[in-house]
Amino acid sequence: MEATILVIDDSADIHRLVANRLKGLDVRILSALDGRSGITLAHQYRPDLVLLDVKMPGLDGFGVIRELKSDAATYNIPVIFLSGEEETQAKVLGFDLGAVDYVTKPFNPSELRARVRAAIKSKKLMDMLTSQAMLDGLTGLHNRRYFDDVLRRQVEQATEMAEPLGLALLDIDRFKMINDQFGHPMGDQILQAVSRVLERACRKQDLVCRFGGEEFAMVLALTTLEETGMIAERLRIAVNQAGAVSALLGHPVTISIGYTAMESNRPDEAECMVQRADDALYLAKTSGRNQCRASAECTGTTATAA
Ligand code: GH3
Ligand code: MG
Ligand code: MG
Repeated sequence: MEATILVIDDSADIHRLVANRLKGLDVRILSALDGRSGITLAHQYRPDLVLLDVKMPGLDGFGVIRELKSDAATYNIPVIFLSGEEETQAKVLGFDLGAVDYVTKPFNPSELRARVRAAIKSKKLMDMLTSQAMLDGLTGLHNRRYFDDVLRRQVEQATEMAEPLGLALLDIDRFKMINDQFGHPMGDQILQAVSRVLERACRKQDLVCRFGGEEFAMVLALTTLEETGMIAERLRIAVNQAGAVSALLGHPVTISIGYTAMESNRPDEAECMVQRADDALYLAKTSGRNQCRASAECTGTTATAA
């Protein structure tokens, strides 16, 4: 798998030398000749590794790593310092600031290569672990943590761009009875089967997550309340008619859905949206289950009051 390396060094010779030493590795090399433009490139391309010169005019290597490490977007990018000096002091400071390694110029031919490969290997492993930490182990859907993250960012984006945003909470009806009657392992299988149905029935751009227990959440970017209701209804019917699910139990499974949306450029909060969808879900449950209900209030419908 190709890796992207960003080299930040004020000497063009070093850029040529690094490219030479890394020839044959499956890497794409980006170059910046000063600290400031290095940080910009790091943001733009999210490289897998930064090779960073210590001494540069303007923002030096220590300044660059401080900025990279204090920003969530670039925090995870490993940094290897490049330096002509061999002073222990600079090395210690580099490690203190979060560097993973240190290479002294002029590079030993195989050393730079070996250190770069090692750093990329552990970065890829970290990426894999991070992405797995965002997945639900049972269903393979994204988990609650990921949902919280995405919803927060989508709410920000929708607010900024004055775009609509839909949210639905889905809950399997009488799931406890399935567990009681058929056993917990069967309950697990139903959760997995329902997850596959939801994934297939939603649109490509919608995000379906396991919200917890037998509850799921769906985030619908650029979607109005009315459209969210239509998709929710499609999902409700899909689960109800899913052959893979009813084959397991001998009868179909129903779900209840509460949904809401943010439809104006009024600021909204992710927590408020979840609360409204949850209230609507409660309404769907108390009104007899197996149905979709919209939240009574949402920013779109109350905006005219102002
Ligand atoms: P309602 O229609 O009101 O939603 O009723 P319900 O029985 O679905 O809701 P309730 O919240 O009373 O019960 C949910 C059950 O889901 C209880 C819990 O044991 C079960 N459950 C939660 N997580 C899992 C899981 O991972 N696997 C299995 N098999 N069961 C789970
Ligand atoms: Mg339930
Ligand atoms: Mg529940």
